[in-house]
Amino acid sequence: MTVQTQEEVREIVNFSPDGLVVTSFYLNVDATEFPSDAALQTSLDSLMHTAESRRKDMEEGLSHEATESLRGDLTALREFFADDLQREETKGIAIFSCSAQNFWQVIQMPMPVGNQVYFGPRPHISPIATFVSHTKPTAILLTDQQHARIFTMSGSEVREWTDFEDNAPQRTAQRGGSQSNYQRRSDQWKQHHIDHAAELVLKLLQHYPFDWLILGTEVQSQATLEQALHPYLKDRVVGEISVRIDADSAEIIEKAEEIREQVESRHIDTLIEQIQEFAGAGGRGAIGLEKTLEALNEQKIHILLLQQGLVHQGSECPNCGMLFADQQKTCVACNEPTRPVDDVIDLAVQKAIELGSTVEVATEFEKLLPIESIGAILYY
Ligand SMILES: [Zn+2]
Repeated sequence: MTVQTQEEVREIVNFSPDGLVVTSFYLNVDATEFPSDAALQTSLDSLMHTAESRRKDMEEGLSHEATESLRGDLTALREFFADDLQREETKGIAIFSCSAQNFWQVIQMPMPVGNQVYFGPRPHISPIATFVSHTKPTAILLTDQQHARIFTMSGSEVREWTDFEDNAPQRTAQRGGSQSNYQRRSDQWKQHHIDHAAELVLKLLQHYPFDWLILGTEVQSQATLEQALHPYLKDRVVGEISVRIDADSAEIIEKAEEIREQVESRHIDTLIEQIQEFAGAGGRGAIGLEKTLEALNEQKIHILLLQQGLVHQGSECPNCGMLFADQQKTCVACNEPTRPVDDVIDLAVQKAIELGSTVEVATEFEKLLPIESIGAILYY
């Protein structure tokens, strides 16, 4: 299946088979890095080899059922990759598996990931945070005088839902109608067409929740179209594209993606401002790693914002799961000895998603310097 939203990612992350192990497998299939199938195969073989040796290391501590499940995961992975991989737009693949529970999820992403394999009590999802935060479900409504087309894009999936034509009243078919009558009827009809399109998009929202709506129309109809939209839809309008109604869908999507990236960038600017404002005023904002981890440990994070590629050593309490930005000897919460971790950011993102926080990743270079590359908006 194609995973679309943070909600669906949350469903994956909440999968927790008691006593069994979940395999999380990340493979970089980016054609710019692995142009030939042979190069990709070598990379895959190496990752499978790592997975096998880690599985052997782990098995001593596992039940028979967990061991069998883990072996089943690796067999399923080998079978999956034995078929010719259709890479096309895909640059990164994430697979989550727990064979004893028939749990198997594949996410194909238009962005590369680092090769990694994790075995744990839950799916390890943090490497796809960028993918999720940059592919918010978006609808596109194109209209002209007579036609309307509706698209959605989400994750790596693009769909055209409908393409319809409302038949205009024919001038020649009217008898004795004055020019003003015709004009009135024509205006009413145009309004009907616009309302019809707006109504369909509202219906779509109920079946397919989207965060953002992009409009494409002739300039003179823009205002009419916006007026016709239900308030739920108006709130979601983030921009307009200029494109012919009969344009190739690839061209439409490309233009919409440009808008989406701009909106994502503005959205992150707003979050930075809010974090700064809240951190100053009443404590509802956290700036920098230490404060952010404190808020995370207290389960107070509503939105976690971080710079893509941020890595930081730290420590973790194996007993209660608290995360620290430095090498604490003992956990401040439960006094148990902590253990050092190579990348506390990865664990923080994972924990935030598990706790239901929204994770936003800034991909523009040094975008988050004003908040020391990581920060958060808190619930209270
Ligand atoms: Zn602790």
